[in-house]
Amino acid sequence: MNATYLLDLLYLIAAITFVVGLKMLSHPDTARRGNQVAAVGMTLAVLGTLLLHPSADREMGDARTMKLLLLYAALAIGGAIGWIAAYRVKMTSMPQMVSLFNGLGGGCAALLAVAELKLQHDGFGHAGISYGAMILVLFTMFFGSVSFTGSLLAYAKLEDLVKDSAITLPRHSVVNMILLAGILGLIAYITFGAGENGMMWGLILFGISLVYGFMFVAPIGGADMPVVISVLNSFTGLTAAAAGIIYENLIMLVGGILVGASGSILTILMCKAMNRSIMNVLVGSFGGSSAASTKNAGDQTVREISVNDAAVLLNYSGSVMIVPGYGLAVAQAQKICKELDELLESNGVDVKYAIHPVAGRMPGHMNVLLAEADVPYPKLFDLEEANDLLAKSDVVIVVGANDVVNPAAKDDPGSPIYGMPVLEVWESKNVIVMKRSMKSGYAGIENELFFHPKTKMLFGDAKDTLQKLVSEVKSL
Ligand code: NDP
Repeated sequence: MNATYLLDLLYLIAAITFVVGLKMLSHPDTARRGNQVAAVGMTLAVLGTLLLHPSADREMGDARTMKLLLLYAALAIGGAIGWIAAYRVKMTSMPQMVSLFNGLGGGCAALLAVAELKLQHDGFGHAGISYGAMILVLFTMFFGSVSFTGSLLAYAKLEDLVKDSAITLPRHSVVNMILLAGILGLIAYITFGAGENGMMWGLILFGISLVYGFMFVAPIGGADMPVVISVLNSFTGLTAAAAGIIYENLIMLVGGILVGASGSILTILMCKAMNRSIMNVLVGSFGGSSAASTKNAGDQTVREISVNDAAVLLNYSGSVMIVPGYGLAVAQAQKICKELDELLESNGVDVKYAIHPVAGRMPGHMNVLLAEADVPYPKLFDLEEANDLLAKSDVVIVVGANDVVNPAAKDDPGSPIYGMPVLEVWESKNVIVMKRSMKSGYAGIENELFFHPKTKMLFGDAKDTLQKLVSEVKSL
């Protein structure tokens, strides 16, 4: 079979594996396998491109050998770093890694666009010299650069290396709009009027786009970070798709479209979950660590409960709802949580889980953790269903959750998270909150739930506390 046909066939198989893999990712039972299916497809596409792509034998001699050596060395080094990083990453640091990898994808597409601009300029471009092709190259450069520096900053924010307030300028959104207008003007100028100087202006556009990526993410923080990560993800997908058009590479196009579309859908779902519009998230700087509620503090009494009393309360109740949050992931308490669940069930208590869409540090974080502990999926209820059930529960145990159970989102118009749907745990008869201290959660804001008359605090590391609870319930 002709090498080009074989390569097309491999690309087709790879594209099918991407779609099937993506579909399988939508359920915890099949997600792991889905990832493997898509990885096999990607391996086929990469190997096929390396061995069968027509450009592989365009050049001969030393220059070709050198290029191939560089290519294989880059693949080996990049592959090794990716493998080790993915192997070592802690579950709670997954969003940082996704951000970093996503940024590198965007940066890669932006560099391709720079190289393509140079080729266009020298009269050897892949995309031809039509205005449409030039605009495509420049937009790839722009979105790829934004995705690169934006994702690096998102990584630094998630790692707590920078504080939101430290990098936000006065009138930041006005500065951003001016930058964006300048970028659009430059794209128009390079396409229609720069002529001989196109390459120089292209490099200026590249530089300003890198700065814009940083400026774009700078004011976004706190509880909005999941949305911005997902927006940047869709940018990278779109740039990869545009690069696929420039290079007439179908697998880049399909892969890019899939990433772009799924990132966009996820962004919309997250905005819905937080009851915000995308514009509001991107322009309206919300939930930064400096944010404070305007509500007057009411009764600030903290009521504690002992492990023994908590065990009695849980064991003799009819229904218990567990609300997992980021602290469950930090403590790696999912397995012991499941043990408590089984123990209570065996004593006749009905146990369910309430899952908030942005609990933890990545979409589906809690689902993944609980699936890891083999908690049956039908026991998990999403926000709306859970809120109906919470009102009927005897006891709610909040395990390391904070922002997603903050009543300020419902009743404090001055709060930065006002309007975000939350799990209304205070509607149940009793609330037990497990955390280590009175510290705030990711959005950096106070939580009145901890002072609510129905709430009892059970301080300590979630895993230790759950372990003690299991022992106590067993001894009853
Ligand atoms: P939060 O970050 O609001 O709160 C987690 C709480 O867990 C903290 O208050 C902390 O309190 C407690 N905790 C930490 N470690 C432990 C431990 N070992 N044992 C017991 N408790 C512990 O978590 P939520 O899940 O409620 O909310 C998620 C937040 O993260 C939201 O603001 C969301 O917008 C944001 N976010 C979500 C992403 C996503 O995609 N899901 C991505 C990025 C951000 P203490 O220190 O006192 O123990």
